[in-house]
Amino acid sequence: MFKELQTNDRLWKQFTKQEEYDNPNLDEYGRFPYSSTVHKNVLNPEVSKFLIENGLKVEYPESKTFAVCLTHDIDLVYFPELKKVHDIVQKSRILGFNEPLGGIPEKIYGRINRLWNFSKIMNLENKYDAKSSFYFLALEKNELDFRYELDELEDLLREIINNGWEVGLHGGPNAFNDLQVIKKEKKKIENLIGKKIIGYRNHYMKFEIPTTWELLTKAGFKYDTTYGYHDHVGFRNGICHPFKPWNLKTGKSIEIMELPLIIMDSTLLNYMKLDIKSSWEIVKQLIDTVKSYQGTITILWHNNNFIGEMLGFYEKILKYCNKKDAWLTSGNEIYRWWKKNNFFDVNTGL
Ligand SMILES: [Zn+2]
Repeated sequence: MFKELQTNDRLWKQFTKQEEYDNPNLDEYGRFPYSSTVHKNVLNPEVSKFLIENGLKVEYPESKTFAVCLTHDIDLVYFPELKKVHDIVQKSRILGFNEPLGGIPEKIYGRINRLWNFSKIMNLENKYDAKSSFYFLALEKNELDFRYELDELEDLLREIINNGWEVGLHGGPNAFNDLQVIKKEKKKIENLIGKKIIGYRNHYMKFEIPTTWELLTKAGFKYDTTYGYHDHVGFRNGICHPFKPWNLKTGKSIEIMELPLIIMDSTLLNYMKLDIKSSWEIVKQLIDTVKSYQGTITILWHNNNFIGEMLGFYEKILKYCNKKDAWLTSGNEIYRWWKKNNFFDVNTGL
């Protein structure tokens, strides 16, 4: 079946994204945008359609019909004007007053600092039998886009993991094409929590085909979930399933799993300039499409969007997917499930 995909020139080019290898049409952050692609039809996963029609069979735990991979990039844990308050809270925590938040109950701190909403997010997801992944930046003070000191968040990270949610790396602006940087940032998180991490998403969705996948594999990551367009929702390479990427330069597949990013919160409102109502229509359409192919839909909701109508929007997604019989879970859970069941190796060789 993998061979069949290779014989379909159009779909093979789309799946491998040949156009991204030597295409100079990048944006100012070095990203390949939707506006540069010839594969404009990103709302229909044509590669997944082909694979399903040619025998790919996918199952999910407890006979769920599709999966939703819920993710949060943690760009900020406090707004700059609250730095002093944040420092005081962290300091008292370090001094050992009432773990984990230094004698100030988390709820009160969360009211002052609305970005300190990790329990709120986990409680909300728990209501719909869902789990998710949190990707943290691991930057040093002097680096571009440094926004918080990761070392101060040890208790938080441990709490997230102990609750059964995932902590992964949100690779910094210079990580995506630099192995040393990726390794350094990965180590920073792992040293802090005393555990290996397996999941990755790059800041600004910076990504270079096939370099980023190759470097992440070398650094020991098991999956990446950066691959999507920042300026358009949908299926960047026509696939709505986790997949093993193919390197056109070496003629070999890469030993990492890609959980393609299908929907980012800011894509809908900021880049596509949709209002909440039309955003919901397109999100609903994507969910229904992924369900029809027994796929996995990865959604990125930043922790600064858990307030007002964006909070309501996220809950609407959880409610809808839960009702539609989805498995709502984190990247590492989906990775383990696919690895264990080997769907592509068995069915397609991908
Ligand atoms: Zn980011």
